[in-house]
Amino acid sequence: MDAKERMAIPRQNPKELAAAVRIKNFDEVVAGFDHATAVYEAERCLSCKKPKCRDGCPIHNDIPRFIKLLREGKVEDAYWADRETNSLPAICSRVCPHEFQCEGSCIRGKKGEPVSIGMLERYIVDWMVSNGKNLLKACALPKDKKVAIIGSGPAGMTAAFYLAHEGYCCTIFESLPVLGGMMGVGIPAYRLPRNIINAEFEALKNCGVEIVNNVTIGKDKTISQLRVEGYDAIFMGIGAHASRKLGVDGEDLAGVLHGIDYLRKINVGEEINLGRNVVVVGGGNVAIDCARTALRTGSDKVFILYRRTKEEMPASMAEVHHLEEEGVKIEMLAAPVKIHGEKGKLTRIECIRMKLGECDASGRCRPVPIDGSNFMIEADAIIPAISQDVDHTANDGIDFAMSRWGTYEIDPVTMQTSVEGIFAGGDAVLGPQTVAKAIYQAKEAAESIKRYLEGQDLKEGRIPTE
Ligand SMILES: Cc1cc2nc3c(=O)[nH]c(=O)nc-3n(C[C@H](O)[C@H](O)[C@H](O)COP(=O)(O)OP(=O)(O)OC[C@H]3O[C@@H](n4cnc5c(N)ncnc54)[C@H](O)[C@@H]3O)c2cc1C
Repeated sequence: MDAKERMAIPRQNPKELAAAVRIKNFDEVVAGFDHATAVYEAERCLSCKKPKCRDGCPIHNDIPRFIKLLREGKVEDAYWADRETNSLPAICSRVCPHEFQCEGSCIRGKKGEPVSIGMLERYIVDWMVSNGKNLLKACALPKDKKVAIIGSGPAGMTAAFYLAHEGYCCTIFESLPVLGGMMGVGIPAYRLPRNIINAEFEALKNCGVEIVNNVTIGKDKTISQLRVEGYDAIFMGIGAHASRKLGVDGEDLAGVLHGIDYLRKINVGEEINLGRNVVVVGGGNVAIDCARTALRTGSDKVFILYRRTKEEMPASMAEVHHLEEEGVKIEMLAAPVKIHGEKGKLTRIECIRMKLGECDASGRCRPVPIDGSNFMIEADAIIPAISQDVDHTANDGIDFAMSRWGTYEIDPVTMQTSVEGIFAGGDAVLGPQTVAKAIYQAKEAAESIKRYLEGQDLKEGRIPTE
């Protein structure tokens, strides 16, 4: 096929569960491509000599290579080409915000629609699973060096993946009963089915990784104890699990449940009855997941309150589209100023209208309250989902250098914290970000840990991470 023929092929779209069906359950909304559709979509790739998609991918996957192998029918080779750089392809293919990363950089997007890179990656991994193939290569023989990994999110999983493959004995300590970090207790199963996460943990266990749930470092066990127990290096992938508060009166009333706390409760199996009318505050993925989850657990009037406009919502556009299809309304240019209640229980939310003021260099405009525009909303529950901060329980008196945002300061080349032998990556360092960015940092940290354990120079031949 020549370039002109490739250009003529329209982007293929996946099938999706109808909104009326999917709001009654947590089944995966988006279906994968079948083989013919995947190969046809793969034909749209122009195999650019300088692929922008690879630059746009936080882990720099060799996307044109795996797409070429796929269209040649070499699906297993395509998988291994992707897996060289991606420790969690089944997960990234489903949850990466592709429009801001690989697909946002795809040259075909300049004059039309980008190649559906996420769906192609997903097809390749799903093909491996449905054909009963091993998802990991053989692990190295165990060495006598031990690494403690705090947190089982994508950062912790990635550090364990690379280090276990080198033969280091890794133990993941996780404070929750559920594994996967925000992928297991944040991102809902309708976007990321739990068997996908569980399969990755099975693969890690088969590689000798020990996993210890329900242990909070800093509470049940300290970092100093880990050292006494013979752990030669430590990786902190503890994420950002402290909900940021709205800071308005009434935030302590019953009926106020912060976004990640709400999702965590649902995902560890608690039954939460929010009532019929639910207001979610925020414009990111967390807010959207809260609203869509509330619908699925029985609330029937759910809307989102966002202080800017829809165009400025940081959530992925596909998620916003699904949200609206499911009947959630977005009340734009509005913010809560006070939560009113009776007998300790929320009854109404007082809001104020906003307008957009001065814009910063990136074009993002500051929301400014409009005096005297206050209005009331009747509600049974409010879910503030405006951001998260790092919880420092793990520190337990160790004086780590922290940024002014409360994230861990690290060396940008080695990912080592200010404490020798302790490395960090993911949301704990970046603040709330993405799975792919957590993977990238953890992979760099794993390289440093390997060098550290072998007494090698941590920096030689490496460049700072972006
Ligand atoms: C609702 C929601 C939706 C999201 N949607 C997307 C999306 O679509 N795409 C995307 O790319 N990203 C998404 N993200 C962000 C993404 O999930 C995170 O950026 C990513 O999981 C960060 O990985 P991490 O490993 O750094 O931290 P986490 O995934 O947060 O994992 C940290 C783990 O450490 C554990 N831990 C913390 N402290 C301790 C301690 N002291 N001892 C033991 N264990 C501890 C925590 O319990 C947790 O399991 C979403 C996040 C949320 C909350």
